[in-house]
Amino acid sequence: MIAVPPISALLSAASGTPLDGRMKTLRMLYRVGRGPSSSHTMAPARAAGVFGRAHPDGVAFRVTLYGSMAATGKGHLTDAAIRDALSPRPVEFVWRADEDLPLHPCGMRFEALDARGRARDAFDDYSLGGGALASDEPDEDVYELTTMASILRRVRERGETLWEHVREVEGPDLWEFLGAAWDAMRAAIRRGLDNEGALPGGLGLPRRAAAFHRKSRTVRAGFRSEARLAAYAYAVAEENACGAEVVTAPTCGSSGVLPAVLHVLEQDLRARREDVLRALATAGLVGNLVKANGSISGAAVGCQGEIGTACAMAAAAAAQLFGGTPPQIEYAAEMGLEHHLGLTCDPVRGLVQIPCIERNAHAAARALSGARFALLSDGVHRISFDDAVEVLLETGRALPLSHRETSGGGLARVYERRLALAREERLPNPSADPAIRPSGSSSARRSDRRPGSVGRRQPSRSAAR
Ligand code: SF4
Repeated sequence: MIAVPPISALLSAASGTPLDGRMKTLRMLYRVGRGPSSSHTMAPARAAGVFGRAHPDGVAFRVTLYGSMAATGKGHLTDAAIRDALSPRPVEFVWRADEDLPLHPCGMRFEALDARGRARDAFDDYSLGGGALASDEPDEDVYELTTMASILRRVRERGETLWEHVREVEGPDLWEFLGAAWDAMRAAIRRGLDNEGALPGGLGLPRRAAAFHRKSRTVRAGFRSEARLAAYAYAVAEENACGAEVVTAPTCGSSGVLPAVLHVLEQDLRARREDVLRALATAGLVGNLVKANGSISGAAVGCQGEIGTACAMAAAAAAQLFGGTPPQIEYAAEMGLEHHLGLTCDPVRGLVQIPCIERNAHAAARALSGARFALLSDGVHRISFDDAVEVLLETGRALPLSHRETSGGGLARVYERRLALAREERLPNPSADPAIRPSGSSSARRSDRRPGSVGRRQPSRSAAR
């Protein structure tokens, strides 16, 4: 018999908002863990660990990965993460890229096998983005107000700041938690600036953060800060691509944006640690609002949900550090999200490298410019942050599956086409690594389809959240 997550999680997932408009603690948003993907690495490893511990008699396991989880699972190291979590017991994988479980594009079925290979028990789970699982206990909805408009009203009435609202809801332990998250973010920057060499996965991409950082000391003064910003964003994104430890902000794929912005402003403004932690609290509130009312899952709504949300979080944090009022902070967050609407997720060969790494640096730059622009204004504007979140969800539902973390379209498709042409015409391989064999991966098989085709798997109403 196949068990499923608690009915409350399934109902809310089916309604199109996995958390049903309720907001959990920031501890569920900022998670420290290994990359390269919160949805395809962190969450599956956690689900596998829980299933493994619940089945001490299981001699081996069979794990079936569906939809996006299968299409980009190899590039995202999903199988390695699950195998580690169930180690030392053996794991057999079944990849079903053209099929979804009913409630989300990131479905997984875990089966515990006996000595004769018969399934004794099974459990279906879903990775909802940012490391969250449909099976997570639904008892930590700590925020009473779950829209930016209602929170702005509350802080205006009380004369509070946004970070004070977060502290009031989360309690005094918040600072210790955020301090640990910030330390982990800084550690990822530091390691990323120290490490050099090629990224794993076969694309032959060199790490760039260290070189950017060195060059940032020699460029003209006006560009120096921007160069450091890019170096820090690359540092974290490259660490993530290597499967090293990062902090979801809101996801692993977008984990470089917020640390880069905070670290540059910490240096340029000589911000105190407590100011940075307060900015992290406000950024978390922004990310939580998207998570509750929209989605931070690239498989559900494309990269707008990951990088767009990260940019909104970082823009809000920057606006606060610049001395912005709550309406100006809201405006900065709104711009960060609005100007990423429609951004697709099409990672080349399913790796969290192209376009992901560059995209972190660009979003960090846009976050800073959005914050500065908001500070020039009085915070009055026509499209609210809540409106942008609503449109994020609507736009995500309109994106074809090929552009929602399946590597079946967009940049991933044209890269595979170039590889195929190079093979046929004996042109130089676009990658320096001869290990690339395009016919061997599920993402390559998807690229063989007509442009625009999304294959047999059709988007379902419940797919985007
Ligand atoms: S393209 Fe964006 S959403 Fe997709 S894997 Fe890369 S960072 Fe994540």
